[in-house]
Amino acid sequence: MPSASPPVIASPLDITSLVRAARESGHTIAVVPTMGALHEGHLSLVREAKRVCTFVVTTIFVNPTQFGPQEDLAKYPRTLASDLDLLARERCDLVFAPSNDTMYPPSFSTFVEPPRVASRLEGAIRPGHFRGVATVVLKLFQLVPADVALFGHKDYQQTLVIRHMVRDLNVPIAISVRPTVREPDGLALSSRNAYLNPDERRRAVALSQALFAAEKAVQGGERNADMLRTLMEHTLTAAGVTAIDYVAIADPDTLEELPRLDAPAIALIAARVGSTRLIDNLRLEPR
Ligand code: AMP
Repeated sequence: MPSASPPVIASPLDITSLVRAARESGHTIAVVPTMGALHEGHLSLVREAKRVCTFVVTTIFVNPTQFGPQEDLAKYPRTLASDLDLLARERCDLVFAPSNDTMYPPSFSTFVEPPRVASRLEGAIRPGHFRGVATVVLKLFQLVPADVALFGHKDYQQTLVIRHMVRDLNVPIAISVRPTVREPDGLALSSRNAYLNPDERRRAVALSQALFAAEKAVQGGERNADMLRTLMEHTLTAAGVTAIDYVAIADPDTLEELPRLDAPAIALIAARVGSTRLIDNLRLEPR
């Protein structure tokens, strides 16, 4: 028999009292913040949340404050009915899906100033993005007082912004970062992959191929970061991905660009394929 959908809570007061009641009855609480249009990457977080805690809350909220004026807020996929079916199968306990007005009433005027790491890469190209992310994530942490919050490595800079915010503002929650889930050909799952037409989908695999090429070069002894950046750029352009926002080889905690790989580093790419902007990253481990 199919599992019943988890209750969907829209009211901030209700979600907090339900989570408090779960805690008082002895549960440990995990929260998985998402913008919906759920795929296997999101579900891997929910599965891990079920493994580490007894009560799992998934939040679904397409957060307007993290989209720039020219970005895809209006057309961002919204698939609540199928999201709930998927969450039922994972035995998610509660869904918090607030409206824009309850999260940002007309009187709203307080924002989180995000940590320094937010100014690089995505932050440089999407001004205000991480201010919106940090603000909504802190609000969700207040509304859903959980023991653990789970995030995907796929949005690597976001995980740093959240880790640094939680550390700097003494937010009492553990942050767990889980591996990127990929398609069989390597493309990182993303709700935005739904925008790709068949030709764009074929080219999009170049992001992961460029990262894996860099990983292979590092395994083969390459330590010069410029050589690795060039290799990634060539892999992208050879596949027809020419609208590159950045290709970085960076420090895994600060995201400062590195000249050499004498310690683990993170390779990050952002590029547009057609009109769809994709990001991906991979940790590089020189041995
Ligand atoms: P989003 O709905 O895009 O805001 O993503 C919600 C959460 O799912 C974030 O923590 C993402 O990093 C994570 N996520 C998105 N795509 C993937 C993926 N392919 N593998 C693992 N986690 C992912």
